[in-house]
Amino acid sequence: MSLAEASGVAGASRVVVVVGTGGGGLATALEASAGGALVHLVEKQDEMGGMLHIANGEFSGAGTRRQAAHGIEDSTERHLGEVRRISHDRIREDLAGLSVTHQGETVDWLDDLGFEFHPDCPGLIHGHEVYEVPRTYWGVEHGRSVLKVLLPLVQEQVDAGRIVLHLGTRMTQLVAQEGRVVGIEVENSDGLQVLRGDTVVLATGGYDANVALRNEFMPEHCADVIVGCLDHAQGEGLLAARELGADVTRDGIFLPVMGQIPDPARPDHAVDYRVAFVEMAPAYRTPHEIWVNSEGRRFVAEDTRSPEIRERQLIQQPGNLMHVVFDSRVLETAPVSLIRNPSDDWTPQRFAQACETSPWITAADSPAELADALGVPADALAQEIAGFNADVAAWADTGAADQFGRTTFPGTLEGPRWYAITTVASSILSRDGLVTDADLRVLRADGSVIEGLRAVGEVIGNNAFAGDNYVGGMSVTPAMTLGRLLGRSLASGQPHLADVDLTSAPSNPTGA
Ligand SMILES: Cc1cc2nc3c(=O)[nH]c(=O)nc-3n(C[C@H](O)[C@H](O)[C@H](O)COP(=O)(O)OP(=O)(O)OC[C@H]3O[C@@H](n4cnc5c(N)ncnc54)[C@H](O)[C@@H]3O)c2cc1C
Repeated sequence: MSLAEASGVAGASRVVVVVGTGGGGLATALEASAGGALVHLVEKQDEMGGMLHIANGEFSGAGTRRQAAHGIEDSTERHLGEVRRISHDRIREDLAGLSVTHQGETVDWLDDLGFEFHPDCPGLIHGHEVYEVPRTYWGVEHGRSVLKVLLPLVQEQVDAGRIVLHLGTRMTQLVAQEGRVVGIEVENSDGLQVLRGDTVVLATGGYDANVALRNEFMPEHCADVIVGCLDHAQGEGLLAARELGADVTRDGIFLPVMGQIPDPARPDHAVDYRVAFVEMAPAYRTPHEIWVNSEGRRFVAEDTRSPEIRERQLIQQPGNLMHVVFDSRVLETAPVSLIRNPSDDWTPQRFAQACETSPWITAADSPAELADALGVPADALAQEIAGFNADVAAWADTGAADQFGRTTFPGTLEGPRWYAITTVASSILSRDGLVTDADLRVLRADGSVIEGLRAVGEVIGNNAFAGDNYVGGMSVTPAMTLGRLLGRSLASGQPHLADVDLTSAPSNPTGA
């Protein structure tokens, strides 16, 4: 009797074990079950959703209905060309190409499901290098908007008996026989158990909350980077596959996210991004301040339009750290708070109050006192403030940029109160990951396939899709798009993801 027959689901042709319920796992499980497979969906936490609970959830895709409705001309070729350019030609052409080809279909799929798009999309997003064409989409509740449409679908499949949901259940290891993966060992309140399947899909996300593991992949000078993602990202899928001899990339690539605030209550961790971060992009906030490193020295133009330039500069600074220095005049004249969050509830009034009370903000009556409190050399900070004030005057006289190329000079810094917000470069997603072939089959170092094992989403590393940069939407969208292709291929038996059609309804042998 086959595993599918043993499952008792009428007509189920295959049993698929999907580990992880982020965007990658949910998309895989939904398409596989809709296509007639029986899916064991395994999640170590008590709720589904993974990083979608915190992510901005910005998707990218070309040729969508929403672009057409806005009169925006775009194509998957143009999107892929931009991904190549922004990533410095370091993507995996097979996987990124396949994903980009279908990403517009994923956006339309979400549209069909009733996804609540933010009214500003498709838009251009300035948190990463900007695309030339508006092709980024996000929900009114950011990543959680995705969960609002996908989780009811999972529940339907659970009710129909096509998904068996195992919440609070952690995969402890992969189970292999004669080199082929045949299931996983799981642990939950009932103890240890083995779940068997024809295929196991690792959709376990990244490793960034596991600092020791993360630093194995990080260039040495980035070891002080803080954790900016949720705690579940422990790299367990990667480690389990590595135990079986899986190959793991080691590209030596790292770019941080900027603006996250070190959490005084949790060493090595950022304050939850949903609560607060410092907005760095001049497209969203005019910089009135200067940024100095732990030596009290400026290091980059605070108004650079290129996120990549400032990110690369920050990771070269001692401790990967910087202080955003401003004065009470900025509080009086700048119309927006330096601190933001995705709910946009940091009003200028709330920020002004926090400047005197928050543990994230250092306040002082003079630059020397501020320098002392920050532990930076007072003479260096005083020089930088004086130099900046001279640059403001020079700009007013001649329109000259300063030595870093800054051309935004709203006013001098003169006190009487002085403030600094310390921020540290953070890691939010894993750059390296499991090596797979173009059909997401996990490979050993010698290039041979570990039969029965696939991987999708961040567990294969973001470099495959973003190369040596961040590329808008190129983590969530590939996780879900390739997850959809994988789920359909596992249900139908179609061996190659490139031959899977996402535009028609999945064929369901159960007729359900
Ligand atoms: C603050 C922030 C903002 C972001 N914004 C964007 C954005 O706008 N656009 C974009 O493209 N990307 C963004 N990202 C990155 C993106 O959210 C992730 O790369 C993507 O969602 C990962 O999806 P995934 O399904 O691969 O993994 P995850 O969403 O991390 O899901 C993995 C799941 O596997 C479970 N799991 C792990 N190990 C086990 C185990 N042993 N047993 C059982 N279950 C396990 C976890 O609990 C989790 O639920 C952002 C990330 C952060 C932190």
